[in-house]
Amino acid sequence: MNLHCPACGERYPLDTGHWHCTCGGVFVIEGAPPFRPADITENESTLWRYRAALSFDPVPANPSPMTLGEGWTPLISANIGGHSVLLKLESLNPTGSFKDRGAVVLMTLLKAQGISRVVEDSSGNAGAALAAYGARAGIAVTLYVPAHTSPAKRAQIAAYGATLVPVEGPRERVAAAAQAAVAASNGREGTRYASHVYHPVTLLGLKTVAYELWEQLGGCAPARVVLPVGQGTLLLGCFLGFSDLLAAGLIERLPRLYGVQAATCAPLAQAYAAGACDVSPVAEGETLAAGVRVARPIRSVAVLEAVRSSDGAILAVDESSIAEAHATLARAGFYVEPTAALTAAALEHLPWEAEASEDGRTILLLTGNGLKQPFL
Ligand SMILES: [Zn+2]
Repeated sequence: MNLHCPACGERYPLDTGHWHCTCGGVFVIEGAPPFRPADITENESTLWRYRAALSFDPVPANPSPMTLGEGWTPLISANIGGHSVLLKLESLNPTGSFKDRGAVVLMTLLKAQGISRVVEDSSGNAGAALAAYGARAGIAVTLYVPAHTSPAKRAQIAAYGATLVPVEGPRERVAAAAQAAVAASNGREGTRYASHVYHPVTLLGLKTVAYELWEQLGGCAPARVVLPVGQGTLLLGCFLGFSDLLAAGLIERLPRLYGVQAATCAPLAQAYAAGACDVSPVAEGETLAAGVRVARPIRSVAVLEAVRSSDGAILAVDESSIAEAHATLARAGFYVEPTAALTAAALEHLPWEAEASEDGRTILLLTGNGLKQPFL
């Protein structure tokens, strides 16, 4: 398994200190193991039930993968806004968000590589996940977060023992500060930029959402999956996971992937609507859905390609519909953070009539727990 730069074709070993290609390209994984149902560890109720698909060759196999109990989250049927849907409760992961799936795989890899310190930037949830697995692995974590990150998320990150560095200004400035810190540590043995966006091994962990849905639906793909999109890593993970299932002949077609953004900061929705293959610069507007407040997604071209090849779409919803959807979910018993409510807010924009013949199973990925960002 290698890191590969799709922009120039260069290959790097999995343990490289580079976090992007010298040409500026963003890495993808090359040579990931295929998905084989016979490889599933049936009695394992974490994402390590797919351990064969998460193997890190040429890094020595870890005899007991690190875990806090992430993955294998419940899939619950509900009627939301008059629509029959299935809710995947990613909010019940150990740190309260889906980011644990990427973090556990990334930190397992970095631990096996002997890394002792990592730096990362996050709007909150990825940071909490990395901090938790850093605590579990004995890896020191420094996190750069936007100054507007919710107090609950900051408290969670600090409680795990990570060093927290709030940065004023837009999200890009937070990433630049983290990257400058990594560059400044050059030469200090064992420091890595553990970026949940740049490091493609996190996508291996996120693929397990697709594997789980396939198992939980009795060996079928859903008709469509609706999920929040900021950087779009979860969408890419789902796309790669369902692509594995398709390649293995286990499903007949990809589910339609519907990414949802907040209208105040919706570069991907705008590019999709314009038929563009990449995003144009947008202002980083404020939104309740703090987890998708990303004006320049790093993997934008890949996200747009994935959505189009699944016959899905990227939608944008306004602030009042996010708040309304948050209340609708809570009154159905599902307390999620506002970012996760994007999924329910998008329901009224889906082409229900046109796609009704496709067996109707619509999955909403409830990505984060409501306790992380309470609001009234
Ligand atoms: Zn390159």
